[in-house]
Amino acid sequence: MAAWIRGGQVYDVHTGEYREVDIQTQDGRIASVGASGSPSGDDTVVDVAGAYLFPGFIDCHVHLCMPTEDGNPANPWMGKLPGETAIYAAQAAERTLMGGVTTARDVGGWDYHEIAVRNLINRGKLKGPRLFCAGKLLSITTSTTAYYPGMYDTANGVDEVRAMARKQLAMGADLIKIMGTGALTSTEYEDARAIQFQLDEVKAAVAIAEENYKHCAAHAHACEGIRNAALAGCRSVEHGSFGDEDTYALMAEKGTFLVPTVCVHSALTADQTAFDNLLPHIRQRYIDCEEAHLKNTKLAQHVGVSIAMGTDAGTPGNHHGDNMQEIERMVTGAGLTPRQAIESATMGGANLLRRENELGSLDAGKFGDIVGFTADPLADIHAIRDVALVIKGGETMRNDLNG
Ligand SMILES: [Zn+2]
Repeated sequence: MAAWIRGGQVYDVHTGEYREVDIQTQDGRIASVGASGSPSGDDTVVDVAGAYLFPGFIDCHVHLCMPTEDGNPANPWMGKLPGETAIYAAQAAERTLMGGVTTARDVGGWDYHEIAVRNLINRGKLKGPRLFCAGKLLSITTSTTAYYPGMYDTANGVDEVRAMARKQLAMGADLIKIMGTGALTSTEYEDARAIQFQLDEVKAAVAIAEENYKHCAAHAHACEGIRNAALAGCRSVEHGSFGDEDTYALMAEKGTFLVPTVCVHSALTADQTAFDNLLPHIRQRYIDCEEAHLKNTKLAQHVGVSIAMGTDAGTPGNHHGDNMQEIERMVTGAGLTPRQAIESATMGGANLLRRENELGSLDAGKFGDIVGFTADPLADIHAIRDVALVIKGGETMRNDLNG
């Protein structure tokens, strides 16, 4: 079970430079990078001469059960059989993997179909990324739960929050996700500038998560919601659109990760069908918020907030498998350097998940997760969307390098 990946330009996330070295994997892990020697008779040899090799990318914000081909968010699975959602999620997982994402965090599933997909991937029965799943997300009573009956569990007050967090863990969740503020993809009654859970409720969710060796992720657009998430000890703030400098400084101080998801706007406007089908008030919010979202992502990064890449794949037009567009957008829209954006999608995600010993770099001992390109994404970030090679756990999942 040894493989040699030979002749590539291997990207070192620690130095930001390439080295032309061979990678050897053994039983799914990286055995060596740049060691001398040559393959023995039983070893698999993957010739990647000239390709640019990166650690498998980590997407910290996906919704595998959400169908992006149907842009109408008013209950996308109404009238469909439960099995259709499960099969969709399995196919979305495979597309995500082939798109260069070897690890993903699902922050809002649908009736736990995504957890079934995770389990089957782990058993080797399906192809997909290593998955960390939140199960259903916790929300206060809101009109928006009608849009997503399979995704939301309602809780009000600390006792209900504790109970619903425990329920997700009992269903196999790897983390807890809460709605700290209103959302863009919500009814007209909801305001993304308003908080939803109060600080004591957020703290209750964090406590249940951390006591069980998990973490809590908070959806938050509004500044006060971002602040509550940081104060309560959430591991990550999702979106973080309307923060101010003091609030981002608090996140930096507390070690709260930001998962910006800035590609939600450009993905929607790039897909005319999704754009046309979307409810008008949601479409307008996506358009109105983009500039502040991009500017504030840069501000957060500037004041020292740790960034982890997340696409929000599953929102309208934000297709599963096109995940690399977020790295591109962090550069072209939010003004991060290619190295910073790639860092967020490798070690950023690994650190958020507390898996820095297993994920996020091409170092001996970590999982043999490798993604390759024919052109150099550091020289031109647009090349990041042309994934040509995906290796997960030492096994080649996709290889278009010589095709
Ligand atoms: Zn989301």
